Amino acid sequence: METIVKGMEGVAQAAEIIKKGGLVAFPTETVYGLGGNALDPEASRKIYAAKGRPSDNPLIVHVSCIDEVKPLVSAFPEDAKLLMENFWPGPLTIIMPKADIVPYETTGGLETVAIRCPENKVTLEFIREAGLPIAGPSANTSGKPSPTEAEHVRHDLDGKIDMILDDGPVGIGVESTIVDLTGEVPTLLRPGAITVEDLSEVLGKKVEIDPAIIAGGVREGIHPKAPGMKYRHYAPNAKMTLVTTALLKEKDYVVTEDERTAADRQVASCIDKLVREDEAAGLRVGIICCSETRDLYNSGAERKADIKVIGHRSEPLSMTHELFRVLREFDEDKIERIYAESYSDRGVGFALMNRMRKAAGMTEILAED
Ligand code: AMP
Ligand code: MG
Repeated sequence: METIVKGMEGVAQAAEIIKKGGLVAFPTETVYGLGGNALDPEASRKIYAAKGRPSDNPLIVHVSCIDEVKPLVSAFPEDAKLLMENFWPGPLTIIMPKADIVPYETTGGLETVAIRCPENKVTLEFIREAGLPIAGPSANTSGKPSPTEAEHVRHDLDGKIDMILDDGPVGIGVESTIVDLTGEVPTLLRPGAITVEDLSEVLGKKVEIDPAIIAGGVREGIHPKAPGMKYRHYAPNAKMTLVTTALLKEKDYVVTEDERTAADRQVASCIDKLVREDEAAGLRVGIICCSETRDLYNSGAERKADIKVIGHRSEPLSMTHELFRVLREFDEDKIERIYAESYSDRGVGFALMNRMRKAAGMTEILAED
């Protein structure tokens, strides 16, 4: 049983553990991370072992300020400086060519390193006090939804790590945006709360999107540049299905109010039908909807399905905040099938839908009229 300490009080002890080669889970504004000394191959090996993570899936290195980046990279592109100055501390991870001191165990064998400065006071103090860069993937069992509360970390990693720094529930709830600056053009490898549009605006140029994000992982001829994107991810135990309509897809979710109302009803009635079938077959079912559509899932039937509102679709950040917690609750409640509404890919919606599609193993169906 590891120690769980709330807030700043745990910082000194956490820093000591890192210096001695141990593992500490730490809060960030995105999800909880599982930290070890990024310069110690043995600490990185321990991280992979605790998570059950494939060792070709590199770790993100956390620093407390821009100055700490220099020793970790063999080149420091101007674009990187611009992005750091604009978005750090914050939910942006930048891929750069690695310096020799960063071991291949930390970078999954790659010549590049992923670096981020998280926005959380406790964690920034913890990194400063450790005086070392902290390798930290999400602090969950590999493949499971990322942890957004200390309790999620304890659930997954109890007994496998030395300490959890608890700073309450995180704000954003999905992992950082990852941008690769080692190629010809800046490329988005994972969508997060900082959007491609945000990046393009600061860089004053186009940012490409890695085709693997759209394809949702490995497809013939498409190899994700972020190795982690090829694994089944964020997956609840239940089989999850996204439901949308042909019109919503065709119009990229930009529809009139009447069209919206009709589409919402179509999706709800499609989900209703599927839920009835599953419940008739004795399955436990969960539904994911938003505050705007919640009332559509109330009507009539003595349905038992567990209905979860993940936020307001007009504010994707309210939904990223809840998604992983809701998926974990479905696991706790032994839910076997989940039906979820699909939402727009615009802005932060791209990060939300990326995680939802992965949780659903890319299964999305169209509601019929
Ligand atoms: P996590 O820390 O669990 O959010 O996972 C880290 C993510 O960053 C994974 O998807 C990795 O594949 C990705 N990543 C880390 N380092 C690199 C790198 N050098 N090049 C590309 N992707 C990376
Ligand atoms: Mg992860």
